[in-house]
Amino acid sequence: MDKAYIPKTVEQDVYLLWEKGSPSLGYGRASGYFTPTINLKKRPFSILLPLPNANDPMHMGHAMFIVQDILIRYHRMKGDPTLWLPGGDHAGIETQFVFEKKLAREGKSRFDYDRDTLYKMIAEFVDANKNINRDQMKRLGFSLDWTRYHYSLEPKIIEQVLKTFVKLHEDKLLYRAEKLVNYCTKCGTSFSDLEVKHVEQIDKLYYMKYGPFILATTRPETKFGDTAVAVHPKDKRYQEWIGKEIEFEGLNGKVKLTVVADDVVDPAFGTGVVKVTPAHDMTDYEIGIRHKLPMKQVIGLDGKLTSLAGPYAGLRVKAAREKVVADLTARGMIDHIDEAYVHSVGTCYKCGTILEP
Ligand SMILES: [Zn+2]
Repeated sequence: MDKAYIPKTVEQDVYLLWEKGSPSLGYGRASGYFTPTINLKKRPFSILLPLPNANDPMHMGHAMFIVQDILIRYHRMKGDPTLWLPGGDHAGIETQFVFEKKLAREGKSRFDYDRDTLYKMIAEFVDANKNINRDQMKRLGFSLDWTRYHYSLEPKIIEQVLKTFVKLHEDKLLYRAEKLVNYCTKCGTSFSDLEVKHVEQIDKLYYMKYGPFILATTRPETKFGDTAVAVHPKDKRYQEWIGKEIEFEGLNGKVKLTVVADDVVDPAFGTGVVKVTPAHDMTDYEIGIRHKLPMKQVIGLDGKLTSLAGPYAGLRVKAAREKVVADLTARGMIDHIDEAYVHSVGTCYKCGTILEP
């Protein structure tokens, strides 16, 4: 007998025995021990394994699933009908992101392939990882019922997801509406608020002349999407203007904006007057809803200004900002610029691009 215990020589055989069972060894069952015997008289115990993403081999953190294995084995030994359900997750955009990093290492990008080819390549990549993951879970001794393994992109599951959405829609729990999203123009996708990575950065704060007001903004290029200006309702400086309309000559002709009062305006920011761009700022969107302001989308999904920006249409945000500021300066409509304004911007956690609401 070896002096040291070498798991490698023992564990795989033992796992195979657990998984497949072996009547010849007197264990009495031909099928595996991980597949429950359904007994309607007994209370079942089941856990759905949080599906590992099939875009990488599993990491140390996945070993914590052992806690579930302990619970499962405890209930199985008690004689409860016990199921630990395994699977693999395609992980959608996460997988595409991992795959694109792999492509980048080879000096390629997703745009080098047509849609079908790219899809096929990613599917093959996922298939390989799925098998690695399955192997890793077996090596960890997880007592999962492999006869019930599912992959989250199986046709049956896709169909079930669609059915679920249709049902949610029929039950009026799902509806379609216009809403601001955190959008990365490089990745071509939107993110939930939780996924936004906020970073502090130094930008210029432009003080622009808006009719009778001077107001501060870091994003002068969105001015074509303004549908109001706002002040704090208790700001003594602007009481007489609340509810009135201001009119002035803008870069693309006459601009008419209503002055609204809203609690969310910080009187200490800039001059206490802010422009309201409901289509491109979360706070402004909320102000827009409270005051029933229209939404004007001036930045498209491609990160370029839309036709609403007139002669600035087609320019990317950064270029548009430079041109707008240059033109405003030429017309004497920039009062002054704070060169080192520190603020927080939402960025894409994948590629670092500043998100456009
Ligand atoms: Zn991105």
